[in-house]
Amino acid sequence: MKEVHIGQVHIPYSVEWTDRTETIGISLDPSMELKVNAPRDATTEEVEEVIEKKKKWILDKVNGFKEEETPPRDKEFLSGEKLLFKGRRYLLKTEQRNVKSPELRFKKGVFKLEHPSYRKEQQRREEIRENVLHWYKEKAGNHLTERVNRYIPELGVEPQSIHIRDLPRNWGKYENGDIHFNWRLVLAPQRIQDYVIVHELAHLEHQDHSQFFWNTVGSIIPDYEDRREWLRINGNKLNI
Ligand SMILES: [Zn+2]
Repeated sequence: MKEVHIGQVHIPYSVEWTDRTETIGISLDPSMELKVNAPRDATTEEVEEVIEKKKKWILDKVNGFKEEETPPRDKEFLSGEKLLFKGRRYLLKTEQRNVKSPELRFKKGVFKLEHPSYRKEQQRREEIRENVLHWYKEKAGNHLTERVNRYIPELGVEPQSIHIRDLPRNWGKYENGDIHFNWRLVLAPQRIQDYVIVHELAHLEHQDHSQFFWNTVGSIIPDYEDRREWLRINGNKLNI
């Protein structure tokens, strides 16, 4: 079967030449296989050209950054809303206080946000949002690093460095011994975080996505296929 290569990701694809279509169309099935429907008179080059053009879309689909479902609307940061954290949604309570800048706390399963008064609604939302994201990034730094350190001895690997940051189109990224994680991973359930962590750590042993690589992942996370699929379907909801 042919494969499309996007960075380290290799996605197998099959082409069906059919009379039912006049344009070349691409879809991704749940087993992560790419299906291409092409009109009978389309050439292999034309098919490859369309795949090449849609690489970004394919990668977003595979990583769960794009789904047919509409993603949740932007938060307004008002009392009664819920904020996602480690796979669960917790109630947000906001309070206007005599403080200089917004401050978020998470205690006993409730998010409490104290904030100064704002003259403009847009300013209120932007400033609170920035502050809330800062809180999450800090938590992600501590929490994900702790989980990484738990799996390092299990895999017997030694990453050069671990970074937790904004990654626009990946949950994790392996680069010559350095590993990067998307801070948004802290919004996912623990088992999903663990899958991504083990996936990236396993790249220290196998840089590709060969069967050897998946065997290593599977030795620690036997149901990795389910977890990967969960991420593909729900990834776009892991946002603030
Ligand atoms: Zn990988």
